[in-house]
Amino acid sequence: MRKIAIYGKGGIGKSTTTQNTVAGLVELGKNIIVVGCDPKADSTRLLLGGLAQKTVLDTLREEGEDVELEDVVKEGYGNVRCVESGGPEPGVGCAGRGIITSINLLEQLGAWDEKYKTDYTFYDVLGDVVCGGFAMPIRDGKAEEIYIVVSGEMMAMYAANNICKGIQKYAQAGTVRLGGLICNSRKVDNEREMIEELAKQLGTQMIHFVPRDNMVQQAEIHRKTVIEFAPEHPQADEYRSLSKAIDANEMFIIPTPLEMESLEKLLIDFGIAN
Ligand code: ADP
Ligand code: SF4
Ligand code: MG
Repeated sequence: MRKIAIYGKGGIGKSTTTQNTVAGLVELGKNIIVVGCDPKADSTRLLLGGLAQKTVLDTLREEGEDVELEDVVKEGYGNVRCVESGGPEPGVGCAGRGIITSINLLEQLGAWDEKYKTDYTFYDVLGDVVCGGFAMPIRDGKAEEIYIVVSGEMMAMYAANNICKGIQKYAQAGTVRLGGLICNSRKVDNEREMIEELAKQLGTQMIHFVPRDNMVQQAEIHRKTVIEFAPEHPQADEYRSLSKAIDANEMFIIPTPLEMESLEKLLIDFGIAN
């Protein structure tokens, strides 16, 4: 089984990209479980048709030890199993710990039993790694393969570089590796070339360039992935290409994060001086 985590700055498109990639993998016949690791609990909305999903942590709080797998795992598009780990009460407790509590509970309840023949687990993890909390899935070996969603915007690249620092730290002792950068375009000048260069300097690859397209929003309003809502649209094919690239990927590395000056130089070389 492949254990994948998707990281990236908040709002960059992690949940959208994850769910569309998962829909593409469904078309390749894969069995998948998606575990949302964002207190917003919106990681599985497009796969579930917008169904409000009760989170693992809410269920734990309300039902104590009596939680059953069916209470927290819902089947969505293409039989994808969907979970939202949820978060602590705002202002109370550690969100990162909450993620681990919920993954451990899912393991105990048999979410990865043989009978599911799970090919892929996707963890959609909240934003900027500013603390050890959100590195939990990679620290504990829950996720082994990381993809970072990034764009040509400074803060997105800065966050991607920080995430690489986190991966580098835990990779030395553990099994976690970087599988690549997914460029989710914000239509920045020379974006493709810039992210390719960033990937190169990090020692990785840009695994796919996902164009910005209004069809993503249209599908979102209908609470669907693009692949489900508009299977013939070119944007659906972009996600299919990304799914195939991930399925075929064999490049797993320990990243070499950039110094701040190198990151700024990249932006100047590609962004400003074009
Ligand atoms: P994250 O999970 O990283 O916080 P989301 O997946 O929720 O980000 O995406 C934020 C917004 O960006 C969503 O409203 C989504 O519709 C939009 N979006 C993401 N990717 C694209 C794209 N390729 N083209 C157009 N809009 C996009
Ligand atoms: Fe929040 Fe991170 Fe602190 Fe946990 S470690 S409480 S996730 S900031
Ligand atoms: Mg999200």
